[in-house]
Amino acid sequence: MAEQDFTRAALEEHLAAGRLMGVRCPSCQGLSAVPRAPCPACRGTDLQWVELSGRGTVVGFTVVHVPPTPLCAAGYGRDNPYAAAVVRLAEGPWITARLVGVDASRPETIRVGMPVRVEFLREGTRTVLAFRPEG
Ligand SMILES: [Zn+2]
Repeated sequence: MAEQDFTRAALEEHLAAGRLMGVRCPSCQGLSAVPRAPCPACRGTDLQWVELSGRGTVVGFTVVHVPPTPLCAAGYGRDNPYAAAVVRLAEGPWITARLVGVDASRPETIRVGMPVRVEFLREGTRTVLAFRPEG
């Protein structure tokens, strides 16, 4: 059962269904946006998937001019950079994802503290997690 496996692959199944999921540990109340079992804090194994709101704020970002191969195929590169951000989710955990809806060639327009909302990008057979500025 994929539901029982707290793996990256299981998370990607949720993303493909349009859900951003975190993993909660009832023993220590820990919440993580990166699926990992057992719980890294208390070694608990009685974990649960919980759906996250998908809202958060940018706590840091970087602009990538030399992307990995799949992103080159998607049209990113030296003349079309993209931004990757660390986002603090409304529920607390941090997550790394692509930032869309920003002008990555003008990084001065991207702000730490910007409110963002989750977006699910289809790229080939994969669903990629991204965030877009709100408002
Ligand atoms: Zn725990």
